[in-house]
Amino acid sequence: MAEFSLQLSEDQLQLQKWVHDFAEEVIRPAGAEWDRREETPWPILEEAAKIGLYGWEFLAEIMMNDKSGLSSPVAMEELFWGDAGIGMAIMGSGLAAAGIAAAGTPEQVLEWVPQCYGTADDIKLGAFAASEPDAGSDVAAYRTRAVYEEATDTWVLNGTKTWITNGGIADIHVVVAVVDPKLGAAGQASFVVPPGTAGLSQGQKFSKHGIRASHTAEVVLNDVRVPGSCLLGSKERLDERLAKVRDGQKSTSQGAMQTFENTRPIVAAQALGIARAAYEYSLQYAKDRVAFGKPIIKNQSIAFMLADMATEIEATRLLTWRAAWLGKRKGFKHAEGSMAKMKAGRTAVWVTERSMQILGGAGYVTDHPVERWHRDAKIYDIFEGTEQIQQLVISRAISGLRIE
Ligand SMILES: Cc1cc2nc3c(=O)[nH]c(=O)nc-3n(C[C@H](O)[C@H](O)[C@H](O)COP(=O)(O)OP(=O)(O)OC[C@H]3O[C@@H](n4cnc5c(N)ncnc54)[C@H](O)[C@@H]3O)c2cc1C
Repeated sequence: MAEFSLQLSEDQLQLQKWVHDFAEEVIRPAGAEWDRREETPWPILEEAAKIGLYGWEFLAEIMMNDKSGLSSPVAMEELFWGDAGIGMAIMGSGLAAAGIAAAGTPEQVLEWVPQCYGTADDIKLGAFAASEPDAGSDVAAYRTRAVYEEATDTWVLNGTKTWITNGGIADIHVVVAVVDPKLGAAGQASFVVPPGTAGLSQGQKFSKHGIRASHTAEVVLNDVRVPGSCLLGSKERLDERLAKVRDGQKSTSQGAMQTFENTRPIVAAQALGIARAAYEYSLQYAKDRVAFGKPIIKNQSIAFMLADMATEIEATRLLTWRAAWLGKRKGFKHAEGSMAKMKAGRTAVWVTERSMQILGGAGYVTDHPVERWHRDAKIYDIFEGTEQIQQLVISRAISGLRIE
């Protein structure tokens, strides 16, 4: 394996600057408004699409065309430094694209991933629907059913998905469903539900604590009929896999889990972006704000808080970049992706809370962005695997035991 290096290439430095400039000029100034409105920020998506920041080509550039693995965390940190709600509105379709890439054939990837984005003139959205009202962390407990009708080569989907980013408003929904209830998580498969398919509707739209510019809703599937070609992978591969599992062999592939594994360092970098934004803001505030006749940063209690914040951010970035680098080389040994994601969630929550403390009253009101960043940060302890699920994954990896 090549040696891990922190050296970014010329292309990566340019990418970092390009995303940062968009985040600073377009995203950051719009953050408070779309947090208040709790709506998908379509004008920002349009601007992002115009410059190529919202689109499958961007995703391909940072994920596939990058050998080091560092381009995606670099880009995510800058994007979410701008604003995490808008960042998630831009990246939400990527969850569907990742689901298709993880489980689909190359032909399916080419057919469906571009449809998750559309074009700059006609923007589309994608959604990845795995979680259910009675099954979030417990992915083996999904109940949404997919039944195959041989005569018409059709899959019929029924069930309810919840907490789905872009759920119900997406053009392409990638849905994880049970094909053999006796096999638990190994008896699941992923399906593309094409635009306008009858029977798929939006249930409740959730009002959220943070990342409020990102749409989150239930997705109800009522006799949703999709052609056999919408099963990601192929029927032959699925039948083969299920036969192996029934024979007692270990399952080698399961769509939802692969998606989460590959996206954890990217999610970590998003949380890192929020932490850095809050740290930079409170550092400047501490230099400007005068109390007892001197800038508050001259008090060790404030300066040391900032020193700790800077250190946590640097440590989190190292873990995140290394995890992204290892993930690119299929080199995970001790669940380093989960380590990065868990650490980044904790760092973002802690750093944003300390930032509020440094701002005092100004940290608690909406005139300053820090209270919003604190609300945004908390999701990183919850989605894409909660803090406790990361602990479970890590403890199993380091011990080789089935920790419960
Ligand atoms: C804003 C938002 C966007 C989301 N977007 C998507 C999306 O696009 N697609 C999608 O499919 N899902 C999405 N989710 C769902 C998200 O992934 C789940 O909320 C998450 O996996 C947790 O599941 P849960 O909410 O059912 O919590 P539960 O699984 O019920 O967990 C509740 C608590 O119990 C703990 N817990 C559970 N099991 C264990 C255990 N074995 N050991 C120790 N502790 C345990 C958890 O850590 C947590 O603290 C989103 C959620 C939110 C809030």
